[in-house]
Amino acid sequence: MYHLECIECGKRYTESDVVYTCGECNGLLDVIYDYSTIELDMNKLKKQCPSVWKYREILPIDETQEPISIEEGGTPLYRCDRLADKIGIKGLYVKHEGLNPTGSFKDRGMTVGVSKAIELGMKTVACASTGNTSASLGIYGARAGIPAVVLLPEGKVALGKVAQALMHGAKVLSVRGNFDEALVLVRQLCDDEKFYLLNSVNPYRLEGQKTIGFEIIDQLGFNVPERVVLPVGNAGNITAIYKGFKEFMNIGITDKVPRMTGIQSEGAAPIVDAYRNGRDDITPEKNPDTIATAIRIGNPVNAKKALKAIYESNGMADTVTDDEIVQAQRDLAQLEGIGVEPASASSVAGLKKLVNDGIIGKDETVVCVTTGHLLKDPQEVVDVCPKPVVVDATMESIRNAVFSDK
Ligand SMILES: *Cc1c(COP(=O)(O)O)cnc(C)c1O
Ligand SMILES: [Zn+2]
Repeated sequence: MYHLECIECGKRYTESDVVYTCGECNGLLDVIYDYSTIELDMNKLKKQCPSVWKYREILPIDETQEPISIEEGGTPLYRCDRLADKIGIKGLYVKHEGLNPTGSFKDRGMTVGVSKAIELGMKTVACASTGNTSASLGIYGARAGIPAVVLLPEGKVALGKVAQALMHGAKVLSVRGNFDEALVLVRQLCDDEKFYLLNSVNPYRLEGQKTIGFEIIDQLGFNVPERVVLPVGNAGNITAIYKGFKEFMNIGITDKVPRMTGIQSEGAAPIVDAYRNGRDDITPEKNPDTIATAIRIGNPVNAKKALKAIYESNGMADTVTDDEIVQAQRDLAQLEGIGVEPASASSVAGLKKLVNDGIIGKDETVVCVTTGHLLKDPQEVVDVCPKPVVVDATMESIRNAVFSDK
């Protein structure tokens, strides 16, 4: 029903091959289905609540394999009128992926990726991570009952994410290097030790994440928004979501795709640089830096696929500053009650900038994807918010504090 195919040379691999990139040319692989054989029952689709496994007919896991699941996906799509007003746009929705079981969209990729690992008979799973991938792999490894090994860049991972990886029992290695270096090392480790690699270079992970695209369409009553805006780090998610939109079109559920709009931080923007120069591949950034640690990546593995998604969908890519990210994080939290980690807020910061610059029209219907939960990075919150006011345990003191400066 499906196979893997190299995006560069077209070489095919079967569903039982353990392979992450093309053995011939090192190109990225895509999971390809025969869409003519996929029939989705629209009545059933309209009745069932969204979730990753709702779309099982278009997921590459054998029917006999019980999914390794903790009920991921089915995240809310909020209509955000107050934030829309502030930005100066008519129709704004936020897809809050921070409400997945571990607090990020990585769970969608991991439920499919770890299910595939078990189907393939792999004994250990591994990844490099800016944090959320490790948190997610930790929990799915535990759920599957197999060991997980995670490599993190030392000192650059938000506290909540490390806490999750540790408590769920992953072997956590803190690498004296950045994410890009950790990824090179874990790829070698997986090849040497026959561990199953679950970074987003693994095409099965992207299959899980494409369900964000399915759910957006589903939750909009099978309508297609004009644009989707999201943060871009290793560039897997923008690739995956676009694939989801395209597949719904290929199956005949929709007749167009949204314009894929990727946002990076100024300090880590290889995809944006490539886009600005009209190129289809990147020049790696050696020393990426940003407050948004989840997208602190200089050499995104999925760059080629992501740039293709951007060009094909008539989308674009732009940068935001750390200050703009923090401001958008506050706006989401205080105008809409949506608590996100910094990387997630870059989507809204990017939208605001592009509307200000007149690049995104005020009449567009836009969905911003907020990728991770506020509690992932509590230290950043404490750093950017005012301190709690310390008061005596008396009514006078409390009243003084409540009514001061307001
Ligand atoms: C992983 C992650 C990203 C980046 O996604 P890519 O697929 O690497 O582009 C953005 N935000 C958060 C919170 C993440 O965990
Ligand atoms: Zn190839």
